[in-house]
Amino acid sequence: MSAPPAPSKSCYNSHCTELRPDRPRKGWRLRTGEFAELCDRCASLYEEGRFCETFHSKASGWRDCESCGKHVHCGCIVSAHTFALLDPGGIECATCARKNVHFVAFGPILSFNE
Ligand SMILES: [Zn+2]
Ligand SMILES: [Zn+2]
Ligand SMILES: [Zn+2]
Repeated sequence: MSAPPAPSKSCYNSHCTELRPDRPRKGWRLRTGEFAELCDRCASLYEEGRFCETFHSKASGWRDCESCGKHVHCGCIVSAHTFALLDPGGIECATCARKNVHFVAFGPILSFNE
């Protein structure tokens, strides 16, 4: 069986010029259900939640969490899972949303086995 042609060997982050390592690290989930393959530096930034802050600071779509004021890049797939839309409008970051019950409505139903 012949291997499918490898996609480009660069980091998935279009703002990054690094080559993807042999063992790329997983970033955000793509619409295909696969994960973005990132170089070490981008993956670290992503895991620390600083990816958008670093690469998209000039992009539009930034909003503030209604509870803590944290900047969240809502116009972006990278941060799509890091905030929740509030019923009265506005958004809440995942940290605050997780503290509030309404977050359950947006994610998979978690079992409460405390
Ligand atoms: Zn990169
Ligand atoms: Zn972003
Ligand atoms: Zn918050």
